[in-house]
Amino acid sequence: MPIASQPVQDILHEVYHEMQPHIGEGKVADYIPALARIDPKKFGMAVVTAEGEVFTVGDAAEPFSIQSVSKVFTLTLALGRIGAGLWSRVGREPSGTAFNSIVQLEHEHGIPRNPFINAGAIVVADVLLAGHQPRETLGEILQFFRYLSGDDSVYIDEDVARSEQATGFRNAALANYMSAFGNIHNPVEKTLGVYYHQCSLAMSCEQLAKAGLFLANGGRNPVSGLTVVTRERARRINALMITCGHYDASGDFAFRVGLPGKSGVGGGILAIAPGKASIAVWSPGLNANGNSATGTRALELFAKKSGWSVFG
Ligand code: GLU
Repeated sequence: MPIASQPVQDILHEVYHEMQPHIGEGKVADYIPALARIDPKKFGMAVVTAEGEVFTVGDAAEPFSIQSVSKVFTLTLALGRIGAGLWSRVGREPSGTAFNSIVQLEHEHGIPRNPFINAGAIVVADVLLAGHQPRETLGEILQFFRYLSGDDSVYIDEDVARSEQATGFRNAALANYMSAFGNIHNPVEKTLGVYYHQCSLAMSCEQLAKAGLFLANGGRNPVSGLTVVTRERARRINALMITCGHYDASGDFAFRVGLPGKSGVGGGILAIAPGKASIAVWSPGLNANGNSATGTRALELFAKKSGWSVFG
């Protein structure tokens, strides 16, 4: 499909070529021991267009830990479950603080700033757990990812989940603190169990880009023809991604890339070009804000070459 007079695959190859000197930059997340073992020289990128065409370069078929990119999809499920009621428990403002920050929770009575910082995603996990056992909720989450990506090989990496559980002291602090304000309704260990497992989903760039495609296409998956969310909801999830998807570097990502995006500490980023394509990139080395260093660089270049920035 020609865009800006150049086919997507050509642009991807150019980006891949220009990224070569930067592959391996940044620092792999080591606070989760299972992630510290990942080869920092991995790099993959996949673009799935609104017509359902798939373009890839590098390690785009290799599964990685999607970590916080999962928060886009659990938010989608939670909105489906309780609709606008979610906004009485989670805000919609950028935090301007790190992904695992606890300071704002005290000022804001246990209501996290947005669903994409850890505290917000833990509340979202708590919403999904209501009335269920963790195993059922995780089954629902996994099914949703498999359905959206059209691929039953998507799985939860138990080693990563165990590793997160063993070292998740800050997340436990966040959950307990919110529980004290009545904003966690299930036993804290169960809610955290769901959260750690959703973060431990293993997916490739190709699977992730396919899963996000409904957000690039007004809520409808163009491949299956099924409506996942309304057009209005897709627009709002995109709005949250562009304002809150990169923690305290969300402004910088909007400035450099100009697309709704969500990063994870596994080095993955999902970016949405509304009406055009869903894009996933993976490069494990992180910058100081905990976002993929070379992944952000690659998306910046891709957005520039394709002319797909939402800001024109
Ligand atoms: N599982 C990670 C944590 O809770 C997610 C953080 C991220 O991907 O940004 O620390």
